[in-house]
Amino acid sequence: MKTIIFAFLLIITASIFSQENDITSQLFETYEKYQETSLDKRRIKHHELQPLLATYRANPQFTVKVVGQSIEGRDLSLVSIGQGKTNVFLWSQMHGDEPTATQGIFDIFNFLASSDFKEEKQEILDNLTLHFLPMLNPDGAERFQRRNVLGVDINRDALRLQSPESKILKRVRDSLNADFGFNLHDQSTYYNAERTEKPATISYLAPAYNYEKDINEKRGNAMKIIVFMNNIIQKYAPGQVGRYNDDFEPRAFGDNIQKWGTSTILIESGGYPQDIEKQEIRKLNYVSILSAIYTIAKGNYVDIPLADYEKIPENDRKLFDLKITNATYEINGNPYILDIGMNRLEVPVENSTDFWYSSRVIDQGDLSTYYGYETFDATGYTIREGKVYPETIKSMDEIKDLALKPIDILKKGYTYLRQEKISISMLKSPIPLHLISKKLIVPEFNLEVGMNPTFLLERDGVIHYAIINGFLIDLSEGNKAAIFNFAFKNAMIFR
Ligand SMILES: [Zn+2]
Repeated sequence: MKTIIFAFLLIITASIFSQENDITSQLFETYEKYQETSLDKRRIKHHELQPLLATYRANPQFTVKVVGQSIEGRDLSLVSIGQGKTNVFLWSQMHGDEPTATQGIFDIFNFLASSDFKEEKQEILDNLTLHFLPMLNPDGAERFQRRNVLGVDINRDALRLQSPESKILKRVRDSLNADFGFNLHDQSTYYNAERTEKPATISYLAPAYNYEKDINEKRGNAMKIIVFMNNIIQKYAPGQVGRYNDDFEPRAFGDNIQKWGTSTILIESGGYPQDIEKQEIRKLNYVSILSAIYTIAKGNYVDIPLADYEKIPENDRKLFDLKITNATYEINGNPYILDIGMNRLEVPVENSTDFWYSSRVIDQGDLSTYYGYETFDATGYTIREGKVYPETIKSMDEIKDLALKPIDILKKGYTYLRQEKISISMLKSPIPLHLISKKLIVPEFNLEVGMNPTFLLERDGVIHYAIINGFLIDLSEGNKAAIFNFAFKNAMIFR
């Protein structure tokens, strides 16, 4: 009998996923039609959202209410749509530098405002009322920083409620007494699915509401929705899903909102290879969240087996932007074998959506339990110090007058170029050589954690590769296309 029931359950589960599969594929394939193209960079600001919100305020389908202000007086708006009795509440960007889901929410608005997918939308809006609070921390977004201007992590302020942003989130949650809550964040791109090289492009958590990590019906429903969404992400980014540790954090919003009786789903957008602006991940947010909303509207998630939640691999943090393995490094003429893990750390350009990289060696030694977005096996290659090019240039205009091109300069063993006057407004080097000021003395080369990863890889007396600011540059002839491989953005300026 048990086997029969089990088989029956399997059939039910399979049919839920196949039914919803159709709508999910359609959402994926038609995404570009609804993408809010004015928000195409991660560093979105509050003022960019206002004209979009104004159009929804003028649209009778939507209700847009200002529910309060941030510390610096920026309006927080709640956008509601639908007339169903189940309330679904979605909030994003309580951490100012975590904008991916905010962009996804505006894509969802475009979808809801369109005249397509009539049947599915009716199903959604008859059964649910959707409430969105995009960009909960606009002051943090302005500076592209995690915390608000009080210097507080809003996600540790759910009990003390000192920040106006926290008060607003609590008040809105309570006023809606939402059945479902989507707590939308970004996580570091260096997270991976445990013991795999796959980035955790999306990570989930159904937060615990007590130290015992009990599972009541509310939390169980959140887990089922997560299993449902995991199946979707697996289709488009196989293996790229992680599950957060569910240790109870009494001060966090997710844990408390779960405790207050809303089935709470934490979604963290991580990294995706060669998706610096996270636009692919934004699309996955759109597809999976809309599909989840649809399955909540239909109510058929209840048959999803809870046990599948535990099968999602755990989150780990073992990725580097670039991992070089088995390089030979010499000290006093003695060779040692090292792996080197390095990350390209972003430095924001003020009042701009742009940024530049100031990379760092994060670890070195046996890194065999780590992975890289980009890896290079340097077996047989020896690490060499990059030197300062003997000629000093007056300005960048002189680059074309140099006897050698920048790539040839690298091949000769130089990684630094001296320039007489480097203007203050120049933030990064436009060529794959570090620019240094007239008097700067380049410190003695010493490969160590924390240094800017800049060196050369030599084999049989020939320099084959340069590592400049954490970017691997292939110097070989016939491989010109790879010279600026994988998102090379900049070398540095050292004044
Ligand atoms: Zn966050």
